[in-house]
Amino acid sequence: MSILGNAISVMTNQAHQGDLEIDPSPLLAVLKDLHSQYKLLGEGAVAKYIPELAKVNPDLFSICIVTVDGQVYKVGDYDQLFTIQSISKVFAYGLALEDHGQDYVLTRVGVEPTGDAFNAIVLDEQSKRPYNPMVNAGAIATTSLIKGSGPTERLNRMLDMFRRYIGHDVFVDISVFTSERSTGHRNRAMAHLMLNFGMIDRNIEESLDLYFQQCAVMVNCQDLAVMAATLANRGINPITKEQAVDKRYIKDILSVMYTCGMYNFAGEWAYKIGIPAKSGICGGIIAVVPNKMGIGVFSPLLDVRGNSVRGVKVCEELSQRLGLHLFDCSGQQAKFG
Ligand code: GLN
Repeated sequence: MSILGNAISVMTNQAHQGDLEIDPSPLLAVLKDLHSQYKLLGEGAVAKYIPELAKVNPDLFSICIVTVDGQVYKVGDYDQLFTIQSISKVFAYGLALEDHGQDYVLTRVGVEPTGDAFNAIVLDEQSKRPYNPMVNAGAIATTSLIKGSGPTERLNRMLDMFRRYIGHDVFVDISVFTSERSTGHRNRAMAHLMLNFGMIDRNIEESLDLYFQQCAVMVNCQDLAVMAATLANRGINPITKEQAVDKRYIKDILSVMYTCGMYNFAGEWAYKIGIPAKSGICGGIIAVVPNKMGIGVFSPLLDVRGNSVRGVKVCEELSQRLGLHLFDCSGQQAKFG
C-alpha cells in the first residue's frame, strides 16, 4: 500500500478508537481540522498593487488535495475563482521547455534562487540572464519564448496548455489583465532591461501582454490541486488522463519550484516543508508530492514576501502530519508507512 494509503488506514483506526462522529475520509478530516484551525488566523494583507486584487474578500480560504489516482479532498471555498498570478510561471516554464528544449531555455533563464523579492529588477552580472523562471524577470523571459505566429496563437497555445493541466477550458479575467497592463511599469522596465542585453528578442509589448494574460487566468483551489497532481503524476492529469506536459521536463519544473518557487522564502520552505511549491500574489499555493499528490491552498492574506500566510501554515502542518518532506527519514513516514 502507498504511504498515503497507509496514512489513511492508520488515521482511520485512530478515528474509530476515539471519536463518536467518524469522518468517512481521514484525509478529509485532516483538511477540515486544518481549515477550522487556520481560518482564525487573520495575519497578513491582501495584494493591493492593482485595485482589482485589493477587492478580494480576505476571509476566503480553501484547501484541496488531489491524489495521483484521481481522489479529490476539498474544504472551504474551493469553487471560488481567482486569478492564478505567479503560479502560472511554473506552467509557462514547462511550455517554453517543450517549445525549445532545456539547453536553449537555459541560455535565456537561469535556475539560481535570487534571495530577492519576486519583482526585483536584477539580472545575473555575468550572463545577463534573469536568475530563474519563478520570479518576474525570469517569467517574462520565459513567456517571451512561447511560440506562435502572433499574439492570438500564442495566447491560445497558453490557454490550451492550462486546459490540459486543469481538465476544462480556462478564461482570462479581462479587468485584471487590463489593470496589470496599464500599471505594470516595473515589469515593463524588466522587459526593457532584458531587451537591452538581448535576452528577449521578440516584440516585448506582445510578450508582456501574454505574461499579464497568463497571470490573469482564472482558477479555483481545486484547479490548483489538479494542476499540482498533474505534475506529481508525470505530467498526466489524474482525472482526465491527458498528458499536459512532456514527462521529460517534470524534473526541470519541480527542481526550480523546489529551489525558487517561494521567492525569498524558498530556502526555509525547502528546509521545513520539503516539497516543490509555487505561490502567487492571489494567495494561492501549489505543492507537489511526486508520485503521490498535488496540494492547492487559497487564502488571499499575504506575508511580506507575497506568500499566503495560511497557505504556508497549512502546508507546513500537512507536511508534518503526513510525513511529506522529501528527505525525511526520521521515522515519521514510517509511522504512516
Ligand atoms: N502579476 C503579478 C506581477 O507580475 C504576479 C506577481 C505574483 O504573483 N507574485 O507582478
